[in-house]
Amino acid sequence: MRYTKEWRAEVGFRWTIRVAVVWCALAWALCNRCCASLPEGPPDGSCDRISRERYEAAVRRAFEGAQVIDLRRSRISSVVVLREVIKIPPPPVPVLVKSFRRDHLPPVLKPTFSRPGVCGATILGRYVAVLETGFDKEFEDILRHELVHAYITLASPKPLPFWFQEASAVMFSTGKVRKFYGKPSDTQPRMIVGKIVELDPTYRQKLHSLDYLLEKAGRQRFYRWYRKSVMTGQVDPQELLGTERREREHERTASTSLPAWLWLGGAGVVVVILAVGAYVSRRVGEV
Ligand SMILES: [Zn+2]
Repeated sequence: MRYTKEWRAEVGFRWTIRVAVVWCALAWALCNRCCASLPEGPPDGSCDRISRERYEAAVRRAFEGAQVIDLRRSRISSVVVLREVIKIPPPPVPVLVKSFRRDHLPPVLKPTFSRPGVCGATILGRYVAVLETGFDKEFEDILRHELVHAYITLASPKPLPFWFQEASAVMFSTGKVRKFYGKPSDTQPRMIVGKIVELDPTYRQKLHSLDYLLEKAGRQRFYRWYRKSVMTGQVDPQELLGTERREREHERTASTSLPAWLWLGGAGVVVVILAVGAYVSRRVGEV
């Protein structure tokens, strides 16, 4: 066999394709859980008034008998953090929460849960749908996540960016990229059945973006910036990082600049040296 340049190029190309396919398969396998992309209108994209009204009516029907959550009083941890730690005024609109089985979804919710990994969704800001997963703790985590979406969506005068929505929902619900859920087995005594849920890589990256801002700015400044972002609908990370950079530059300038007395003292020493030098050179000249 002759290892020509063309042969090597072809083999290299084939391997590149194989590696890309394997990587995509791995990435897909890791996408275990995420929430739906916050539908604000009919999933078919139609935005005329009649389609929207019909859609909203269908969502209302799907949530009949739902649990009502008042964000001004709820003790669910993610809501408490937003309301009492970050101090975003709670929206007065009640949020409706209902759990569904994946195989018994009302038609209006089917497109929202069409992706296998999606287990929760916040629709129109105030309808929270959570799929039954068989693990109570997982249900609670999904609910915490979705209530962050509901809270900040209702508190903001404008739609917030997708990355900010998802990073916030993960940060204030579990804050973790991986979590184990377990429960006693129904069939085998003294056995625990469980599963590990990995955060979707896209969501993981969004969480890291917010974690980075928190680390760089410090908790108090980060919370102030976060509250302002939600309440104005303007999310600008540069505002947080830029201010920090300016402050650091100011500190550096302040620490490197010499005090005035030192400048005056230095100038005095130079004058004395010059005077002594001139006097000595004159005397030497006279001699
Ligand atoms: Zn989400």
